[in-house]
Amino acid sequence: MRRLEIAVAGAGPAGLAAALFLARAGHRVIVFERFETPKPLGSGLVLQPTGLSVLHALGLLDDILALGNRLDRLHGRDAHTGRTVLDARYSMKPAGRFGLAIHRAALFNVLFDAVFAEDIPIETGMDIAGLDMHGERPCLLTSRGQRLGPFDLVVDASGARSPLRHHADIPVEPRPLAYGAIWTTLDWVGGFDERALSQRYDGASVMIGVLPVGRQTISGGDQAAFFWSLKVDTFETLRKEGLSAWKERVLGFWPESRPYVDQINGFDEVTLARYQHHTLPVPAGRGLAIIGDAAHSASPQLGQGANMALLDAAALGAAIASADDVPAALQAYASGRRTHVRLFQALSRMFTPFYQSDSDVLPFLRDWLVATVARIPPAPSILAALVSGMLADPLGSLGVDEPDWARYVSARDLHMSRRVSLRVTG
Ligand SMILES: Cc1cc2nc3c(=O)[nH]c(=O)nc-3n(C[C@H](O)[C@H](O)[C@H](O)COP(=O)(O)OP(=O)(O)OC[C@H]3O[C@@H](n4cnc5c(N)ncnc54)[C@H](O)[C@@H]3O)c2cc1C
Repeated sequence: MRRLEIAVAGAGPAGLAAALFLARAGHRVIVFERFETPKPLGSGLVLQPTGLSVLHALGLLDDILALGNRLDRLHGRDAHTGRTVLDARYSMKPAGRFGLAIHRAALFNVLFDAVFAEDIPIETGMDIAGLDMHGERPCLLTSRGQRLGPFDLVVDASGARSPLRHHADIPVEPRPLAYGAIWTTLDWVGGFDERALSQRYDGASVMIGVLPVGRQTISGGDQAAFFWSLKVDTFETLRKEGLSAWKERVLGFWPESRPYVDQINGFDEVTLARYQHHTLPVPAGRGLAIIGDAAHSASPQLGQGANMALLDAAALGAAIASADDVPAALQAYASGRRTHVRLFQALSRMFTPFYQSDSDVLPFLRDWLVATVARIPPAPSILAALVSGMLADPLGSLGVDEPDWARYVSARDLHMSRRVSLRVTG
């Protein structure tokens, strides 16, 4: 395809990764971000083997591994009985796959530094408000009334509250979910399996988690993301009841979390995350590609959102590289991602109420039926492919290969090797 003028709206994981793929293919790319200083919001997330493979394709795997913390499993216990009700391990097939827990700032910095190193312009303080067609070519409109462009292609990577999504061929509005969570980042002080996301449940109305996320910068200390699931409309009541009352509740369910809970000094140190769900049937419109949370949002129960955003970016890059014109590329992008996105969005909608809802029946099934069946082969392999994001072969059509996991795992303990190399160099 000829050299395109491309505007990317949003400098999150989707927008930054897309900018890298497209600029490296020779297109002229500019990123518009609403924040004055680009910054990530929130705490930690899990990069699955899918997202790690895309970062590997971008040449950024070593950088991200140097900051994040390798996860071998997701582990959850019933808060009352201590019985294990979730034990999903990554390395079932092929041996060596792992997840990487990472602070959002670390993921952002690695992608942002790569964009900066390639001289891709990022214009900040640009609050994109709309899209306008200039003949056949789209222009972006800002909330201050500026008109940007025209461009050959606009990439909407502005996240779950996208102002451009309604320009999709078949627009769909997100449905807010009743349950969200409060999140904060704390110092990692051990006490739990460093290679696991550890969770405690009481039915589906209480879920508490500790996720060791590694460090934000090479010289930073190790951290953990701590979260408490709650109904969003109960947050104000929780605040009014006071911090001590909430801490007592948490410790009642999970006394071992005290070293983490003790680090929280006020509700202003936690962030309320609201979740929503939508899937665009066609993540594209005229002159517009929609990627990441703008195209499909979900509760983070399956930990796939950022990974799907990275896969979308790779898919868009591959589609543009192989098509003759923009409409053909948009069609190829939409059909290339359709099966994987629909499958994981459906799974997220199906599984979320098992962990976050008012139901008594679903958590009972989860703890007694699903937890038992999940131990019987081939269920552990299917579960491993599910948490890895690898069901429905998402990498096949993108020209993205999985890294040689064994090479990274043979370093056995990324975390330890990192400390050793720090000591050697420092
Ligand atoms: C609490 C929580 C935990 C999560 N855990 C996981 C996990 O473990 N694993 C996982 O894969 N995913 C997880 N997710 C989901 C993940 O964070 C998202 O799927 C991912 O960030 C989507 O990336 P994105 O680039 O599409 O959107 P975003 O990360 O939302 O980035 C959008 C960017 O666009 C900018 N922007 C927004 N509006 C405008 C505008 N009008 N004009 C210009 N710029 C704009 C924003 O400032 C931002 O920089 C979690 C989400 C939450 C809330």
